[in-house]
Amino acid sequence: MNIHEYQAKAVLKEFGLPVSRGVAIFKAEEAAAAADELGGPVWVVKSQIHAGGRGKGTFKGAPAGAKGGVRVTKSKDEVVQFAGEMLGATLVTVQTGEAGKQVNRLYIEEGAQIAAEFYLSMLVDRATSKVAFVVSTEGGMDIEQVAHDTPEKIVTFSVDPATGIMPHHGRAVAKALGLSGAQAKEVGDLTEKLYTAFVAKDMSLLEINPLVLTGDGHLKCLDAKISFDSNALYRHPDIVALRDETEEDAKEIEASKYDLAYIALDGTIGCMVNGAGLAMATLDIIKLYGEEPANFLDVGGGASEEKVTAAFKIITADPNVKGILVNIFGGIMKCDVIARGVLAAVKTVGLEVPLVVRLEGTNVEEGKEIIRTSGLNVIPADDLDDAAQKIVAAVKKG
Ligand code: GDP
Ligand code: MN
Repeated sequence: MNIHEYQAKAVLKEFGLPVSRGVAIFKAEEAAAAADELGGPVWVVKSQIHAGGRGKGTFKGAPAGAKGGVRVTKSKDEVVQFAGEMLGATLVTVQTGEAGKQVNRLYIEEGAQIAAEFYLSMLVDRATSKVAFVVSTEGGMDIEQVAHDTPEKIVTFSVDPATGIMPHHGRAVAKALGLSGAQAKEVGDLTEKLYTAFVAKDMSLLEINPLVLTGDGHLKCLDAKISFDSNALYRHPDIVALRDETEEDAKEIEASKYDLAYIALDGTIGCMVNGAGLAMATLDIIKLYGEEPANFLDVGGGASEEKVTAAFKIITADPNVKGILVNIFGGIMKCDVIARGVLAAVKTVGLEVPLVVRLEGTNVEEGKEIIRTSGLNVIPADDLDDAAQKIVAAVKKG
């Protein structure tokens, strides 16, 4: 789960990390009061969307000159003007895709003087099963570009969970950033607090870009992006409360209500599968036969008729879906039960695209018989290969 920058900064502040003072607003009318509260003399008006690259982003249909999702100003009038221009407008950045994202929240911050911009991020490194730090002097800009052009400017190391964060980690960050003396000490403190926050809140990613050295020589987290491990959210109700559903795919939200593992994709073939491994194999084979899957959907081992119906509704609600492939292995679940579930779902939801059903496992013959005699326009398949070819052919024909 992702949160907004202003929320991420509030989390960091809880752990004693240095962030600028700021006020989040939802309406342009609140901008003047926010500017007064902060006092100036410099303000930064920051669009809050779940995507980076805002500073260099552009607004769709914005008045001439009104560009950039992050704007620095010394004028209170401009704070109000920028707020009016940004709120409700659609911001397009390298991370949003062409469609962009509507800006519904702003963060007005006191402006910081920047002497240097660094990059610092932390993530769970699956290869080493450790929390890794990624640090670079080349902050503020596109880190992917730095990694490509000058990889030697990126320093990474990981922290052994048995010892936790140690003073030498802080020294490694200071060295990577070329800091010494009091600033190195400050970096050590920052490194320790970031690690503590990361572990305590079950983060999967924490990115500070830029981490800056201010005019008076102190460190500050000027931007913050945090992703949390969804599997650990049950123990962080305070984080769950920060969820902004308008930033998420509506179909994914609906799926989570039924405990379905659903990820929207860009293709045309809707998939309903049980088991993550089988689901991935299904996506692969669809691609092998020349089409693209519209989603990943794992209905789980014990899918009820209700769950199967919900899954069908979610798949058919996607206008890109030109065909559906149901690929179920009846292990704990029985194929006849699944077949009845699929038919019940088709009856309630309706079916306007070709549907291929492949069943295998316990009670497979009964299951196939139910599909065959249903009177519904369902194409039966014998195995995964057959199923993929049939749905791809049906979609290409349709
Ligand atoms: P992003 O473009 O979405 O990554 O948004 P950031 O929060 O990183 O802001 C983009 C850029 O705006 C930063 O790299 C800074 O150069 C600039 N910026 C952000 N806050 C301040 C500030 O307080 N003072 C100044 N001078 N520049 C800022
Ligand atoms: Mn940034």
